[in-house]
Amino acid sequence: MRFKWMGLIGWLWLLGCGGGSQPTSDAGPQPLDGDPADSGQADSGQEDAWPGNDAGPRLPELQCEVAIVGGGAAGVHTAYRLAPMLNERVCLFEKENRLGGRIYDIPRDPMDPSSPRYGAGALRIMEGQSVVFGLARELGVELQMPERQASIIQARGLFSTSAEAFVPRYPGLMAHSSGDTETALYETLLDASNRMRATMYPDFRSYVRGIVGAPAYDFLRDMSRFRADFEAPLDARGYLDYLAEEWDVCCTPSYPVGGMSELIRRMADRIRMNRGRIFLEEPVLSIESRAGGGYRLLTTAHEVIARKVVIAVSPLALRRIEGSIAQRIREAPEFQAILPIPVVVVTQWWDRAWWRDLRVPPMGSDPERGVWRAWTSDHCVNFVEFPLHQYGVDQRVTRSVYDDGIRCVEFWKATYESGGIAAVEAEVQRGLEFLFRRNGVTMPAEITIPRPLRTHFQYWPDAWHWLRAGSRVTNRRVFEWAVAPLGSGEEVALVGEAYNLNRSGWSDGAYKSSINLLNSRYGFSLPLGDGMPIRGGRVPWHERGK
Ligand SMILES: Cc1cc2nc3c(=O)[nH]c(=O)nc-3n(C[C@H](O)[C@H](O)[C@H](O)COP(=O)(O)OP(=O)(O)OC[C@H]3O[C@@H](n4cnc5c(N)ncnc54)[C@H](O)[C@@H]3O)c2cc1C
Repeated sequence: MRFKWMGLIGWLWLLGCGGGSQPTSDAGPQPLDGDPADSGQADSGQEDAWPGNDAGPRLPELQCEVAIVGGGAAGVHTAYRLAPMLNERVCLFEKENRLGGRIYDIPRDPMDPSSPRYGAGALRIMEGQSVVFGLARELGVELQMPERQASIIQARGLFSTSAEAFVPRYPGLMAHSSGDTETALYETLLDASNRMRATMYPDFRSYVRGIVGAPAYDFLRDMSRFRADFEAPLDARGYLDYLAEEWDVCCTPSYPVGGMSELIRRMADRIRMNRGRIFLEEPVLSIESRAGGGYRLLTTAHEVIARKVVIAVSPLALRRIEGSIAQRIREAPEFQAILPIPVVVVTQWWDRAWWRDLRVPPMGSDPERGVWRAWTSDHCVNFVEFPLHQYGVDQRVTRSVYDDGIRCVEFWKATYESGGIAAVEAEVQRGLEFLFRRNGVTMPAEITIPRPLRTHFQYWPDAWHWLRAGSRVTNRRVFEWAVAPLGSGEEVALVGEAYNLNRSGWSDGAYKSSINLLNSRYGFSLPLGDGMPIRGGRVPWHERGK
């Protein structure tokens, strides 16, 4: 009986029902799973279904000191730090056939393993992210720090390289005397006397409207490349705590040669060098306490006995793990306060870098520039990004869609599900032409956009996480709770970006969450990074962020 039960669950995983961040690819439509609107209360323990309760044939048993569930940045980093001490007593289980999770770099030539890769998830490290810089240095990863180029914004019938040009299009919005209304509005939102009142507002949207007014809310939403910040039901205080830290995520991006996954690959090599054990394509299905102490985990291939468990999966993925340990974590208010944000990313490879022809003529003190990014509120292509660093430039690749707008994510999902990659390509083509043909800003006015060589569609049901509106906990509380979500009597912890809401959307958040656990419960004293010096003076909002 045990074997049959295991087989059924295993099959469900293999059929793709088990993935939180299940990638979808260029192969054609695939089922998309994960309902980000659900709260984390669905499962019901499954005590009876636990295979220890019946008498069927056993899976091979595996003894581990620490079992790590999930091989994203946080899980791999935790194993990397523990492996030199614990060797084969560290076991890491990853459900996919690759490590990295939301750090997912795709080779230009899928048939060539040495082919250069481009990210469908994480791409860069920003100034101030000293923990990631330190890790890259420790692992010998080469970073490229290219010069930034122009950004094109489109909203309310206008194209411009400057957010300030849009102010008159928002009746009721006053231009700020500094000439940078957008940054001044963010400063007002972050002002200490306003932040003190954040808990009086039901969510961040109403906080923005209440503090700076409805026209300013519309302006900030349209000027932002990321729309979920303004559309999703986010806790006002939680988002402001995040924003205060995000203010220091600035200015010049650095890109690892090999992609962000180069850090993951090098950590994995060292885990294996230290005899740590990594199990790929082996999802953890269930986690239970064990009568004699410790924990028993069921994977698709092993019954694992572990003294300690580190759960390094997102909340959506945790909802799919059976057993009383996962169930008890899901019941916590801290867990239920975490809101996943879905995102769509479309990556395209081309035979020629057509976007390199685009120039923004010199304006005032600005010299002639190329184009880096473009975003629009009038087409779901929203946010297009061209690589600046040589490693990316050489791949002739673009991130043609990067969208977290609620309506647009639904639109792209529906387009992909109904028409496959061909429908996505046709819609992206329309969006690129809308953005770059006769926009009145870039030269030449007429530009021919060829057909891409290849397109990869990626739906992330839980790209990043914030505190849900109406939560009774804070970001800090979630961060501290995660090191011992069932109390200090249990050797169970959670690590990952989702449990470090102040660093939402950054691998920096995942690494810091892992460091927080290692320092507080495993005797390490790794630097948590209080930020590196960033460019002094007043930095416009546009130079910050993801
Ligand atoms: C589109 C996008 C752009 C981003 N851009 C950047 C950027 O430029 N720079 C940056 O630093 N960060 C960026 N990030 C954020 C960064 O990628 C994430 O914060 C980080 O990778 C999260 O790591 P994690 O370990 O917390 O979780 P994840 O990466 O989600 O890892 C969890 C792992 O657990 C596995 N898993 C799930 N369930 C099970 C199970 N039952 N058993 C075993 N394994 C399981 C998953 O397959 C996954 O590998 C971006 C993210 C996205 C989505």
